[in-house]
Order: sequence, then C-alpha cells, then structure tokens
Amino acid sequence: MHFFEHRGGELYAEDLRVTDLVKEFGSPLYIYSAKTFRRHFEAFDSAFAGLDHLTCYSVKANSNLCILKLLAEMGAGMDIVSGGELYRALKAGVDPSKIVYSGVGKRSYEIEEALTADILMFNVESLAELEKINEIAGNMGKKARISLRINPDVDPKTHPYIATGLKKAKFGLDIESSLAAYAKAKELEHIEPVGIDCHIGSQLTSIDPFLEALDKIMAFRDKLTAMGLDIQYLDLGGGLGITYDEEEPPHPSAFGEALTQKLAGLPMKVILEPGRVIAGNSGILVTEVLYTKGGETKEFVIVDGAMNDLVRPSLYGSFHRIGEVTPKGRPEHVVDVVGPICESGDFLARERSLPAVESGELLAVYSAGAYGFTMSSNYNSRPRVAEILVDGDQAILARRRETYEDLVEAEKSCLDKI
Ligand SMILES: *Cc1c(COP(=O)(O)O)cnc(C)c1O
Repeated sequence: MHFFEHRGGELYAEDLRVTDLVKEFGSPLYIYSAKTFRRHFEAFDSAFAGLDHLTCYSVKANSNLCILKLLAEMGAGMDIVSGGELYRALKAGVDPSKIVYSGVGKRSYEIEEALTADILMFNVESLAELEKINEIAGNMGKKARISLRINPDVDPKTHPYIATGLKKAKFGLDIESSLAAYAKAKELEHIEPVGIDCHIGSQLTSIDPFLEALDKIMAFRDKLTAMGLDIQYLDLGGGLGITYDEEEPPHPSAFGEALTQKLAGLPMKVILEPGRVIAGNSGILVTEVLYTKGGETKEFVIVDGAMNDLVRPSLYGSFHRIGEVTPKGRPEHVVDVVGPICESGDFLARERSLPAVESGELLAVYSAGAYGFTMSSNYNSRPRVAEILVDGDQAILARRRETYEDLVEAEKSCLDKI
C-alpha cells in the first residue's frame, strides 16, 4: 500500500485528492503523508529491536514542526546540526535527553544553548571544538557529554557532495588523531567522553560501507577501552538510501539485521541518525505547468516550481520521478522540466520522457520529502511554498505559503535609514 497513488485516474495523498489540495492551498505545494512518515519510522526503528538503541531522526532532512512532533510522539530522538534545529526540536516537544548534536562549526552560543537544554551528547568534530565545549561547560558549571566523530576513511560510493567519511572530507577526525583527542578529552575537566560517532555519507545503496566502517570503529573502541575509557554510546550516523529512480537500497530490516548481527551482546547503546530514509518518499512537490515551448533542439515544460523550491536536481544532478497528477494518456516526448528562475541550472528534470502536457495541468515531483523544503530559498524573490501534512482525510497546514510582505519583513526598517 502506497500513500501517494492514483485511484480512478487521480493522484491521491492518503484519502485526499491532490487536485483538491492544490485548489485549496495553491501551487507549488509540498504534500507530506503522515502515515508514510509513521510507517517509515516504525520500519526503521523496529529493525533494531534486537539492540539497545535510540533512533535519532536527522532534523535537516525535513524540519517542519509537525513532522518533528509526529516523530517525537513515536519515541524518536533527534540529530541536530544547529541551534535553529535545537530550537525547533524543543518547540516540537522532543525530549532533550534524546538529542545529539553534530556538525563541524558549532558556535559558542549554540553550544551554550545545547548545554542549557541538557542534550544527550555533542558529536565533536575537532580538537578545537572539544576545547571550546570544555571552556563553555566550565563557565556554566556543567560537564558536557561528548562523542568524537571518527572519519573511518571508507568510500560510501555516493555523490561527492554527500560523501562525508573519506579522509579528504571536512568531517570528523581521522582514526590516528582521534586517539590523541580521546586522551585529551579524558583529561578535560568539563568533558565526559561517553560515545563514538561516525557518519560516512548519504544515499548509500549498499550495506558494505557501513560494515566496513563499523569494523574500524569496533577495533578503535578496543583501544579506547584499553585506555580506560568507558564508551557507552555507539552512534552510527545516518545515510541509508532510498529509491528515487532504479536504485535498490537495502530495506531497513536488512540493514538492521546486518548491524544487529555484528553488535549483538555489546554493552553499548546504539544510536542511529536516519533522515532521508524516513522523509524522502513521505513527500511530493506538486507543480503546475505554466507553458510548453519547443525549441529547435529541445522541448521545454515550464512549471511554477523551481530550483529555489527543490534544489536537488540543480545541486547534485539528482533524479526525481515526475508524473501527471491526472494522467491523460497522451504520447510521451523527451523534455526538460524547468522553472521560472533566471539560471540555466534551474531544472527539475532533463531529457525526461513525459506525456505531452498543457498549461494548467499539475505534475507531481516524487521523493521530495527529504532535503526538499529544508533546502529551499527565496532566490529570485520567490516566496517559499506551503507545506501540507495529510493524515487520512485530514489536511493540516504545516506551513503557510509566504507572502510578498514576508519577503521584505526583515529588511524594511532600512528604508527609513537611507
Ligand atoms: C545529514 C546527516 C544525517 C542524515 O543523513 P541521511 O542520509 O538523510 O540519513 C545523519 N547524521 C549526520 C551527522 C548528518 O549530517
């Protein structure tokens, strides 16, 4: 059972017609399915039932408050990468003792905010950051729980922009430096080293790189034990891929089984940070065809959605399946689906075979639930679009469409000064 499917020639989001949602909320429109989010979280989390574990949803994949609340209510923790994400998670009612904080560039005020909230731990990515956290915790009369993010130097075989566990990546510490960093952490008065962390990349379609990283981390853990460190948490990051086109990533149950086999009986709590695998196929972006235009060498379908709404095709050359909301059965053409933005890099699909469409028709861009709205911007002064969460026959306005007034709100006081 899919929660975005055609029935009687019409695309539905759960029990609601996409056409009706667009009539009510306008286009372009992000539509999320609550049932799909719940099912994905449940499938992932239950795959690790054999281990003492905590599933910390990666907020940056889709940080809408509704989504965070829905997942928090299912017992999810959160993986955050900024003070803004901490703020969102707390607003949504996430238990701070289930929050881990990753990222290479944590600022002092963000560290302070996380210490005030008393989060589970910081995933520390450099010696300098470790010292900064120690200093801030000291000033606050606190002790900070930390993991060090180890860079195990494995190739996740994914897009270079989202490969994070290679030696040349800006993330984490290589294994050699990590040992010295743990020795340092052990000495620092306001630091409590409680975990080991790694996150090797995103959209992985094979389990092998995870297992390879895990072997290196386990060998490393033995060295820490020998140093007298009691490591209670093993954070394996996120990164499990999804099907956008023809990828065949392992099912979360197979992923869970493989890791459980390796980790069973270990006296550690395993933390997982899935983002895309929960959110990616839980949402679509609906866009309206504005014009079609045939050039000498190309045909274009110009739609009202653009790279500012969904940047993945432009940024990574990503594939998103596109289909008609109300299929008409017309013959297919090879087209570029492009937005109104003044950049040649503004496209949602290139050289794509699509049935002929006319202006006013709606297209669904699938697999847009992760790294869709969260990466959107106001480029070309386009108000950011609305987000809807559908739950059965209920449509919840998860974020209202921005207005022109919103575009200038934070700037307009300058008009009096110039
Ligand atoms: C982005 C990120 C994740 C989530 O990655 P997905 O591929 O969406 O599962 C998890 N952990 C960290 C540290 C991240 O930066």
